[in-house]
Amino acid sequence: MEILNKADIGVFGGSGFYSFLTDVEEVKVSTPYGETSDSIFISKIGNHRVAFMPRHGRKHTIPPHLINYRANVWAMKHLGCKRVISPCAAGSLQAHVKPGDFVICDQFVDWTDGRKSTFLEGPFVQHPSPVDTYCPEMRAATKQTAKELGINLHETGTMVVINGPRFSTKAESSFFTNQGWSVIGMTAFPENYLVKEMNMCPLNISLITDYDAGINGDMPPVSHEEVLKVFNKNVENLKALLFQMIEKLPAMRNACTCASSVQLD
Ligand SMILES: [Zn+2]
Repeated sequence: MEILNKADIGVFGGSGFYSFLTDVEEVKVSTPYGETSDSIFISKIGNHRVAFMPRHGRKHTIPPHLINYRANVWAMKHLGCKRVISPCAAGSLQAHVKPGDFVICDQFVDWTDGRKSTFLEGPFVQHPSPVDTYCPEMRAATKQTAKELGINLHETGTMVVINGPRFSTKAESSFFTNQGWSVIGMTAFPENYLVKEMNMCPLNISLITDYDAGINGDMPPVSHEEVLKVFNKNVENLKALLFQMIEKLPAMRNACTCASSVQLD
């Protein structure tokens, strides 16, 4: 794959997060996996060149189960990104994780169905380990920055990713809660995992917008309107967290092994 060296950090925006940077260069990337969700918008933050793409399209026209995750992630790699940050709106499965809080997930559970979720289609067969998918260096930088900004952030969390577009039933949601999982969303898999397969550093930042189906009936159930309302109230916190965390990141990746997850051609 030709690497263009146009950006070194990628950011995928989710529900309610359709633009991020100013003074952007708009780039369209054609990929071997088909069309990306949108153009990519490149600009500078500190010493980094950052590439932003709204994963649902800038007008939110692509539902989570139909996003072309492979094309989106391949495009970030092609531009030269070494790190990819995936902020997303997410539901809480545990009462102590409240709307407006942030969670830096350290594990995921794949509850999706039928998504194209790997670049590794032979003939050279590899079985990468997703045991520790998320980049420890970026997780530490996010934790530190949230502390400085006074943002309520949970340092770990397991994200169960459902296929969508529907939300969970009460029975499904209480099953997830009873597993001890803390966060539910629709896009972290395969997005975060594909980033890992491309030897880039993945980071998930979940902004909690709701209590899913209500945590065993104790809270109101989620609606898309509520997700956007809470997200919009907290999106400036998210942007400040991203800007300041990205500024902190060193040019070279020294504190992680994400660069050698998979043997690429
Ligand atoms: Zn890393």
